[in-house]
Amino acid sequence: MIKITFPDQSVREYEDGVTPLQVAESISPRFAQDVLVAKVGDEMWDLTRPIAGDANINFYKWDSEEGKHAFWHSSAHLLAEALQELYPGIQFGIGPAIENGFYYDVVPANGENIKESDFPKIEKKMLELAREKQAIVRRDVPKAEVLKEFAAKGQTFKCELISELEDGHISTYTQGSFTDLCRGPHIPTTAPIKACKVLSVAGAFWRGNDKNPQMNRVYGITFPKASMLDEYLKLMEEAKKRDHRKLGKEMELFAFSQNVGQGLPLWLPKGAALRMRLQEYLTQIQKRYGYVQVITPHIGNKNLYVTSGHWAKYGKDSFQPIATPEEGEFYMLKPMNCPHHCEIYKTSPRSYRDLPLRLAEFGTVYRYEQSGELHGLTRVRSFTQDDAHLFCRPDQVKEEFLKIIDIIMIIFKALDFKEFEAQISLRDKVNREKYIGSEENWQKAEQAIIDACQEKGLPAHVEYGEAAFYGPKLDFMVKDAIGRRWQLGTIQVDYNLPERFQLEYTGADNQKHRPVMIHRAPFGSMERFVAVLLENTAGKLPLWLAPDQVAILPISERFNDYAYEVKNSLERQEIRAYVDDRNEKIGRKIRDNEMKKVPYMLIVGEKEQAERMVSIRKQGAGDGGSMSIDDFATMIVNEVKSQIEHSSY
Ligand SMILES: [Zn+2]
Ligand SMILES: [Zn+2]
Repeated sequence: MIKITFPDQSVREYEDGVTPLQVAESISPRFAQDVLVAKVGDEMWDLTRPIAGDANINFYKWDSEEGKHAFWHSSAHLLAEALQELYPGIQFGIGPAIENGFYYDVVPANGENIKESDFPKIEKKMLELAREKQAIVRRDVPKAEVLKEFAAKGQTFKCELISELEDGHISTYTQGSFTDLCRGPHIPTTAPIKACKVLSVAGAFWRGNDKNPQMNRVYGITFPKASMLDEYLKLMEEAKKRDHRKLGKEMELFAFSQNVGQGLPLWLPKGAALRMRLQEYLTQIQKRYGYVQVITPHIGNKNLYVTSGHWAKYGKDSFQPIATPEEGEFYMLKPMNCPHHCEIYKTSPRSYRDLPLRLAEFGTVYRYEQSGELHGLTRVRSFTQDDAHLFCRPDQVKEEFLKIIDIIMIIFKALDFKEFEAQISLRDKVNREKYIGSEENWQKAEQAIIDACQEKGLPAHVEYGEAAFYGPKLDFMVKDAIGRRWQLGTIQVDYNLPERFQLEYTGADNQKHRPVMIHRAPFGSMERFVAVLLENTAGKLPLWLAPDQVAILPISERFNDYAYEVKNSLERQEIRAYVDDRNEKIGRKIRDNEMKKVPYMLIVGEKEQAERMVSIRKQGAGDGGSMSIDDFATMIVNEVKSQIEHSSY
């Protein structure tokens, strides 16, 4: 008999060689129907793979990342099986699960390519095979034998992969007539796959190297229910409309230029103004919470990053150091602001009474990303963090977390993020030797974060083993208007950099102590945050933030002068307004300004001019009656105030 330990620490005994599926069935047949994959000890495990020896077990259903991953990885195999039947002689590369679905890299025989018009027949074949409820069977085979098997089938890419593996046994998975070289895990059969969609096909080089053969990368997604696929496709449609890259162009916020370089955003006047507004707002709040602003250079001596440990860990994958004409000097584009701030800390002796020291900077950093990874403002090579580093005593960690949570809540409210959650990342429960810092400080900090979340009523879940080796952290995720989750701000405790930079303060006991460092960025980065804001609001930004708050549309040129008069009155109240004085029909002007997502349009003609009034159209709400210029201005000023004034500070 072996002992199986469940997540709630309860233990049951089973016969040696029991499978996770049998264990699940012993709990409840209904539960066993829903589980897709298991984790045995530290290893992801097929439900049908025997367990040898005592072990901890975890089960995963569709609602978990692990469950979806196994489902989609198995679907990649199903896609390959379908392609093998439809395209005899097809060669296979790799076929992983990805964030939404999966892909497979393939080369059809005789120079053929997979086309969009082929998708329906591929989907049909996948469904047909899924309905056969084929078992997905794992085998552990000696390397030489696997190599022979794949060579016989002419699978040269697979043979290349196999020959690079260590000698010994290699696992393969077979379903129907298709066998793949694969580490697994997989779902037990193809039966749960109920809806299949081939999404796109793109060119991809074998192993990402342009000297290698070009392959067809076929993307797909599958679901355990047909209705889920319909929902997903609807969501994709909606997401396309909200794509921040499209909105950024339409709203004239930012641009990219190949001449400047990939992944280096150019903020256009309206975008820059929007970003400045966000920065000013955050700066104002931070000032109330005792932050001081600092400014540091965009480059730093390479040795600074040797000290921080960044060089050893990321140096190879970073922008390479810049050499000076004088020999032997090397500088790096700043990949993070922390080391600079540590050096600021060291500029004077600190006493326990000086702490916490809160150094804030909108610091631009540069990180190398492969060109294929770049995406609008969410994956860039240059971005500005709304960064701050708090240096405090170990007993001040909780107080600081409470304050940072406050700041983040104020921001979420002002930006209308209603649904958010937090993740508390703590140490592994067992392997504690891999973490730097004293046991006592860790325990205090972990408890401080949990308590701070509780006191603030923040919905947070705890993840063990997710902490960085240098400290626990709290991450914020927001759910946008169409249900997508975005990771935003982070609060990270750090015991490592104070050690590496030998930071000290003099305690009440007159002895030297190490401060704790807290990194925090409520927005994450200005680039990412603006992207999320655009995708969440579909470009309809809250009034206080909108680049243009009011568009004034004269019915004909005769009323242009009055329109400018209105604009001047509004500007005196710091309302951002412009006049659309193009020689266009009013209907056209309304449509164009609607497209620009301006919150208010004011229409002025004969009647308005005579009565010193404006006719109002609110974005998305249509006709809003008419008002005097002053009343309208007061209304706007009040609306802005209500959006950014909060009792919590
Ligand atoms: Zn596989
Ligand atoms: Zn930092």
